[in-house]
Formats: sequence, structure tokens, C-alpha cells
Amino acid sequence: MHISQAIQLTCIDKTAMESSLHYPIFGADIICPHCRQTIQALTLTDSYLCDRHGAFEANPDTEELVHLQSKRHWKRWEDKWYRQHTHPDGIRFEIHEALDRLYTEGYRATKITIAHRYQALVNRSLELKSMLMHPSENPDGDAKKSTVAYLYGLPVSFSDIGDRQPKWQIVNFELETEPGVPRRYPYHYLVRE
Ligand SMILES: [Zn+2]
Repeated sequence: MHISQAIQLTCIDKTAMESSLHYPIFGADIICPHCRQTIQALTLTDSYLCDRHGAFEANPDTEELVHLQSKRHWKRWEDKWYRQHTHPDGIRFEIHEALDRLYTEGYRATKITIAHRYQALVNRSLELKSMLMHPSENPDGDAKKSTVAYLYGLPVSFSDIGDRQPKWQIVNFELETEPGVPRRYPYHYLVRE
């Protein structure tokens, strides 16, 4: 056998072998949601192993990644992991971190949109304020009071309940931003050194 034939055969063998390997649903490797380093799948299992954070298990039915030690869940949208919160502190803390990051980048948030699926979870964390609606904003044409919800001093709305975009089943919130320093920094009970 010529050496070129031998090399060709080896290549075919390798391809055949790789395609027969069973990887978890997210593929041969993923980014660890905790430390963002690339971590490998353990073949023939549904697990990924991070040398710092231990095992993560992919659930093919729910398309979630579960950290076995902490039982935290993530879903992936456009190559980013979004933690799926089950406690109001979790989502509040994540929003808080995002506002903090914006501040260090020279931006401020003007509005928060939270995924509708969290409405029941975060409702009690929101501060409600009555606002006088301008007559032009009111279909009846007269000044009327409406209630606006706030978190960290920013107006909050929820993704539309009728919005069946898969994105809003995975991502947690979005911030509307503009360049500049926050008007009322620190955000409510945010403490900075
Ligand atoms: Zn890690």
C-alpha cells in the first residue's frame, strides 16, 4: 500500500469514528457558564466537565444545561448561556450586575424589559408609582393616573405575553441604554466602594 493511500484510509477511519461518537446535545465542547473557558464533553454521556467547576449535564428534553453541584440551570441563545432563575434574588442580582457593568462602560440604562415568564417571580420586588398620564397618551383624552413599576429606580415592563418569540423563553431581560452616567447612581441599594 502506498503511503498516500494509508493516510487516506486513516482519514476516513477518523471521520467515521468521530461521526459515530455520541456527544451531548450542545456538541463536542461548550463554554463553561461560570468561567467561560472551553470545556469538553465526555463521550457517551450527556455531561461536560470543567476542571474548575465540575460536571454539567445536558438535558436533551428541556435543552437545558444543569450544573450538578449547584443545580443551576442554563439555556443557550445565540451562543450565550442564560441562567434560568427560580428565585427573585437570582434575577434581581443579574440585573444589578448588568447595570454595574454598563456603568463601567460609560452607559446608563433608561428602561428594563423582563421576560414575561418571570412576572410572578419579580412582582413583589417592584416599586409601584402612580403617574399622571398626559391627556394625549390616554384614549379618553383626559388626565388619568396610571401605575408604573420600577426596579433600581428604572421603569420596568415585561415582554409581551403574546410574544411567542423563542428568545423570550430563554433570555431573562433587556436593558435600553444610552451613553452617560446614571441619573441616580448608585441604583437604589447598590453599594460601590
Ligand atoms: Zn468553569
